[in-house]
Amino acid sequence: MDELVRGTSADGAVRVYCAVTTDLTNRAQRIHHTYPVATAALGRLLTGAAMMGAAGLKSETDSLTLQIKGDGDMGMIVAVSDSAARVRGYVENPFTERPLNSKGKLDVGGAVGRGYLSVIRDLGMKEPYIGQVPLVTGEIAEDLTYYFAKSEQIPTCMALGVLVDTDNSALAAGGFMIQLMPEATEETAERIEKTAAELPPVTTMIKDGMSAEDMLFRVTEGFSMLMDNNKITPEYKCTCSRERMERALISIGKKELRDMIDEQGEAELTCRFCDNKYKFSREELEELSERAKG
Ligand SMILES: [Zn+2]
Repeated sequence: MDELVRGTSADGAVRVYCAVTTDLTNRAQRIHHTYPVATAALGRLLTGAAMMGAAGLKSETDSLTLQIKGDGDMGMIVAVSDSAARVRGYVENPFTERPLNSKGKLDVGGAVGRGYLSVIRDLGMKEPYIGQVPLVTGEIAEDLTYYFAKSEQIPTCMALGVLVDTDNSALAAGGFMIQLMPEATEETAERIEKTAAELPPVTTMIKDGMSAEDMLFRVTEGFSMLMDNNKITPEYKCTCSRERMERALISIGKKELRDMIDEQGEAELTCRFCDNKYKFSREELEELSERAKG
């Protein structure tokens, strides 16, 4: 079962988030029929979003969106999370195929290419808060680490991993995020770095049966950690609804809706995140166009 745990070192200097996200990665894989490179890319980004959502959002209606826009074959990758690590996402081209990279691993960086990572926080204010950094490797964990250093000045060590099976599904997926708070000393930073450098890959730890909590204690070996009692179950959950689709149709304007009625007679909208289809008959479109502006 997927899980996300949080802990803080007794001196408050180190905050850690660990997540097992195999189930939600598989849910995303089944919705989008992703091939291995896209399964890995989307699973990593969803896992990063889940941890960042749980770490940085307060209210239930807040949302965090990670957007990777590279010039590679995979196109744009999007992941959205709320404060309870309910995530959704998509990849522009889920059927990208790439030879393995020089390390014999899925070439996520190559499929992403060069471009930008955007982090969008919607906290219910008039405008969302948007941060953007160039991609470092396109491997996603390094890009998110760079974002924290550059945009938020929070020294962060992020690891994300998805082990893909021969049927394109995920055998293991998850990650961890270690953040140093301002009270962290140079010595703390060095110890964290040293431990992180000696860790087995995230997917190995998960495949070997480690829970998110086991992983948390492993990545902070030697530190006295206080666990946050309330565990979160991250899950893939779409927020689309017929009402949202109606609002989207109304927002395209009266004239465009009239054209749609004249040319197609009806409309079918597909949700990018969950593939649900919403059909609107001529009569329903007529009624929406009455409510539209213009
Ligand atoms: Zn949906």
